[in-house]
Amino acid sequence: MNSISILGKRLAPSAKTLRRSIQPVAQSIRHFSQTPNVANQPLNLFSFTEEENMFRDVVARYATEQVLPKVAEMDEKEHMFPEIIKGLFDNGLMGVEVDAEYGGANGSFVSAITVVEELAKVDPSVSAMCDIHNTLTNRCVSDYASKEIKEKYLTRLATDTVGSFCLSEAGAGSDAFSLATRAEDRGDHYVLNGSKMWISNSAEAEIFVVFANVDPSKGYKGITCFLVERGMGVEVAKKELKLGIRASSTCALTFDNVKVPKENVIGEVGKGYKYAIDILNEGRIGIAAQMIGLAQGVFNVTMPYLFQRKQFGQPIGQFQGMQFQYAQIATEIECARLLTYNTARMREQGLDFVKEAAMSKLYACQVAERTASKCIEWMGGIGFTREFPAEKFFRDSKIGSIYEGTSNIQLQTIAKAIAKQYSQ
Ligand SMILES: Cc1cc2nc3c(=O)[nH]c(=O)nc-3n(C[C@H](O)[C@H](O)[C@H](O)COP(=O)(O)OP(=O)(O)OC[C@H]3O[C@@H](n4cnc5c(N)ncnc54)[C@H](O)[C@@H]3O)c2cc1C
Repeated sequence: MNSISILGKRLAPSAKTLRRSIQPVAQSIRHFSQTPNVANQPLNLFSFTEEENMFRDVVARYATEQVLPKVAEMDEKEHMFPEIIKGLFDNGLMGVEVDAEYGGANGSFVSAITVVEELAKVDPSVSAMCDIHNTLTNRCVSDYASKEIKEKYLTRLATDTVGSFCLSEAGAGSDAFSLATRAEDRGDHYVLNGSKMWISNSAEAEIFVVFANVDPSKGYKGITCFLVERGMGVEVAKKELKLGIRASSTCALTFDNVKVPKENVIGEVGKGYKYAIDILNEGRIGIAAQMIGLAQGVFNVTMPYLFQRKQFGQPIGQFQGMQFQYAQIATEIECARLLTYNTARMREQGLDFVKEAAMSKLYACQVAERTASKCIEWMGGIGFTREFPAEKFFRDSKIGSIYEGTSNIQLQTIAKAIAKQYSQ
């Protein structure tokens, strides 16, 4: 029995008392529920299981002891150090939700989100690597691949091999399903031709989840998902030089007559678009977690300065003009966190979370950007230098409104859900 159901039992009133107390409420609810379906949304608690707290502790320790000393150097060199990647695997952070049968930690979705948030408090680049590996690559293989693929590849993904999720192309960004990479059926194998862009983790990856079209005449219904090994002929081009999350590799890939065995098709031929939509809806919760971690991380390193630095004879954090600003930001971070974890719980409970996932990502990245920007301002000149991590957090925050669906695309998703709800 989980902690929520134990709590539910403790709080349960007698059936008679409950009937009496809810009657007037039920009448009002009936009245309101004639109109849109708002009152019927179940509530989710912001509480953590023992397992989730354990993950949080392990990650927080790993992040502060192992990652923190390397953050600035990795950013400067635009390189994820191999020992950091090994540490992620050794601590079970690259297979959080993967079944124990395949070498994973068999953790909950909220545990995965917690890992992403904690890592981002220290380094959003390491968090990006871990998030994309867990919530996109592993998720796709775990949910849709055959047992044979899982035995061969998921065990590696959970224990020692980095993976990439390859959907975007030069001509297919927000309009991802206009992708041009082709997969031609040659009997017992497919031949892949085309290129991908912006692929995270690809400098380090050995395993690639690739979306390609087997029959462009069918449009997006030709999109199929393949598991491709680097050794099959994936060419990884030079890394992009980026504004933020610079230690996280982002490269273009080329497939030039890459032969992929038929048994490496993930799920069903022509269903790739559906898998991508489902995975990205969920992935957005991961990016929201990365952004709230980033916001909390920069807030935590900045706030002490406000009580050390004195101007006009008092700590700057005591001026009302400053107090109101950090009170506002702290409130926004809390709201973003509640929204994100609530969405993660909704997903765990099998509820429809698409609108809430878009809201979480949209809002969390706005809060992250605002927080990092404010933190720089609160520190004055020192905040603007590379001596202090606020400027890096600020640069890192910008990616939140771009990958896994830009902010406009999130707004579009939210608007569609609202329009559907109110136009029925
Ligand atoms: C660092 C980084 C890592 C990434 N990692 C991966 C990865 O691992 N795998 C992967 O597959 N992809 C990855 N991406 C790609 C990412 O998902 C895309 O960049 C993103 O979806 C936006 O696509 P685009 O860059 O082509 O922008 P575009 O789609 O060209 O958008 C440009 C602008 O137009 C706006 N716009 C587009 N369409 C609409 C519309 N219908 N209504 C309103 N506004 C619109 C957008 O909001 C945006 O402001 C990564 C990108 C970056 C920068």
